[in-house]
Amino acid sequence: MEEKILVVDDEDYHRELMEKLLERLGYQAVVADSAEQAFSLLQGQQFPLIITDLIMLEMDGVEFCRRIRETDAKTVVIALTGHADLYDLEKLKEAGFDNHLSKPFKIDVIKQAIESGLAQFRQRSQDD
Ligand SMILES: [Mg+2]
Repeated sequence: MEEKILVVDDEDYHRELMEKLLERLGYQAVVADSAEQAFSLLQGQQFPLIITDLIMLEMDGVEFCRRIRETDAKTVVIALTGHADLYDLEKLKEAGFDNHLSKPFKIDVIKQAIESGLAQFRQRSQDD
């Protein structure tokens, strides 16, 4: 169950690319094309790690993360900052993000971020 990662991105290209990268790294990727779809997935299952795009129609990634944090302090949430200039990192931290990754994706960077994210999740689970 710790190997399952939720990917939220409104762009098909980025969502499918991330899904492929995660699978190549040996993780199970579950994808959503909006924050709304992600919330319905989150009602039925738990993920140790969520990777979310920031710029999305309807609910953006910052609001998505804020809402997650209302009930869940444990899941590690990573932002995909394709347009980092529009979101300052302080604001991302305030919203509850644990980390951020920039597009275009680099597999080594993603691998590292996921490994440390999963370790962080295990740490938080132990602290309960
Ligand atoms: Mg987007």
